[in-house]
Amino acid sequence: MLRYRRTLFCRCSNLKKISLYIHIPFCERKCLYCDFLSFSAPDEVRREYVSVLIRQIKSAASQYKDRRVISVFFGGGTPSVLPGTLICDIMDNIRNEFDVDKSAEISIEVNPGTAYDLDSYISAGINRLSIGLQSSVESELKKLGRIHNVRDFETLYEQALLKGFNNINVDLMSGIPGQTLSSYEGSLRYLVDDPFRPKPSHISAYSLSVEEGTPFSRMKLDLPDEDTEREMYKITSDILSEKGYTHYEISNYSLAGSECEHNKVYWRRGDYLGLGLGASSMVDNVRWKNTGSIEDYIKKDDFAPKQVGHLTIKDQMEEFMFLGLRMKEGVSIAGFREYFGVPFPPEYDQVIDKYVSLGLLKKDKMCVMLTQDGISVSNLIMSEFIF
Ligand code: SF4
Repeated sequence: MLRYRRTLFCRCSNLKKISLYIHIPFCERKCLYCDFLSFSAPDEVRREYVSVLIRQIKSAASQYKDRRVISVFFGGGTPSVLPGTLICDIMDNIRNEFDVDKSAEISIEVNPGTAYDLDSYISAGINRLSIGLQSSVESELKKLGRIHNVRDFETLYEQALLKGFNNINVDLMSGIPGQTLSSYEGSLRYLVDDPFRPKPSHISAYSLSVEEGTPFSRMKLDLPDEDTEREMYKITSDILSEKGYTHYEISNYSLAGSECEHNKVYWRRGDYLGLGLGASSMVDNVRWKNTGSIEDYIKKDDFAPKQVGHLTIKDQMEEFMFLGLRMKEGVSIAGFREYFGVPFPPEYDQVIDKYVSLGLLKKDKMCVMLTQDGISVSNLIMSEFIF
């Protein structure tokens, strides 16, 4: 169940919670399916970017003195293309400028194909790694245009364990061109069946989406059909449940105590601040974005919020429902009433009744959640909560 007001403030403190997303937009090379804000850039640009980012951190922190940071997430792009010392500088500035909770979850995305620096990450207080494996089949990695191979992943994973990282996410992808049900199962089992290698504490299993403007959108791709994709989703849930993982969000699985706290802030509509190029923020029901122009960001120190939107009560209700339904625990009926001061509107009751009768939603006294069958048509169900 989602709990809102009760988690708005930090325990033992009057400070409200906030999470930080730090965008590092650089990659060694663009993957063929990628539509993230990322590109390759020379070393001087990367360094210049970090100095501007630090100026933005300082400027933002002065506006959030009443906040305690409960999670920090370095995403991208590929944060691991930066020298580890720069990651340490960024974290030092975050700690100096913000009130960072001692038990904050601090994550970094690491690409096995880059020259990562695990010792620096430890010095920076990073306690969670997120590794983009995507597939354990070399030909599939090549089709995606990834820069790493399976051996690169193994080296990184083994080193991370040796250095003491015990909270490690691995990203897996389904729906890759040429992928079959059995090759996908092979990738899944590769991660969780090796008797000599501890399983990752967290697995994010996403399906490929071909986005406009990417090289994939202009190519003729041999994509798995819908039934195969559905089966891939099902075996992910079945195999990972068998191996002790909780399927706590539509695409995310964790061993006990390893759910991603940072992503839960998004799904629970907590406040977060995006720092860096093109990063999005939501604080007190106001959303905005940073400039997506590297020239404006670096040359003009342009930190002015772009595309600012004040969420209406209806917007907030919609998000409450469709983000809440992403999580296994579902949407709390009491939580909705507590947050908005009213019960579900009649439109929502009708949608809920319809999908409960179809066996796609479950409702008890406490909450509303997707059933296993409902998960496969979750987008359709969620869209019905838009007024
Ligand atoms: S590594 Fe990630 S961000 Fe970079 S190009 Fe590939 S998919 Fe995009």
